[in-house]
This record gives sequence, C-alpha cells and structure tokens, in this order.
Amino acid sequence: MAKFHINKHGVPAPCKAKPGNCPLGGDETHFNSLEEAQVAADKMNEEKHGIIPGMREETIAYMNRKENMILDGLSSNEETTIILALEKELKKFKGLLKQDDDWFWKEKVNTIYRIFEKMGYDKEFVDKHILSEE
Ligand SMILES: [Zn+2]
Repeated sequence: MAKFHINKHGVPAPCKAKPGNCPLGGDETHFNSLEEAQVAADKMNEEKHGIIPGMREETIAYMNRKENMILDGLSSNEETTIILALEKELKKFKGLLKQDDDWFWKEKVNTIYRIFEKMGYDKEFVDKHILSEE
C-alpha cells in the first residue's frame, strides 16, 4: 500500500522510496493516507512557523526557504523596517525612471531588487506583494 510522508517543504506527498529506505525517516514520518499525513503536516507547520492549516504550499515552501537566507540574524521587526525603507526607495527610483529613462535610475532599481533577492524575496514577489498597492 502506498504511503505518504511529509516532504522537506512540510507538505504531504506520496512516498516513492522502498520501505525503510526513505531519507525522510521511518514510520513516525509516514502515514497510510493523505488525510493522516495532512493532519500531521498541519500540526508540524503550526508548531514550527505558526502557520495556519490550509496555507498554500508555495507560501510554506517560501518560508522554509527563507529560513536559510543570510538575514537570519534580523528580527522580523528589523526586517519589516528594511523592507519598508527599500519599498520607498524602489517606488522613488521607479518614478524617476518613468520620467527619465536613464541608466542611473535603472541601476538603482536593479540594485534594490537585488537586495530584496538577497533577503529571499524575488522580483515577482516584490512586484506582487510589496509594491501591490500601486
Ligand atoms: Zn518517504
């Protein structure tokens, strides 16, 4: 019978390994049904991140990925402060770039996107979730 485990993103998935051969662990991380695995995954994610059950897979994967980024030393309050400052700068330079298509403004905009990327937020995420009220 197919087993389900919780993958490294905290998401239930069918286990394709031979019994006893799964790198994700033994019986304690394997379940007979997707429902059982989902219940365990929700509990695990909630304990680890305060994630609410039903949160989207991409969001959980994203949060897990961010855990390993270079800014681990910052508190969320500090990170939020940096994001707000960068957001303001990015809007300013995007506005200037719109008025005047100059390489200097373009470089400023690209630099800010690169900083966001180093913080674990890719361009798509920044455009969609950080600059969204534009
Ligand atoms: Zn497995």
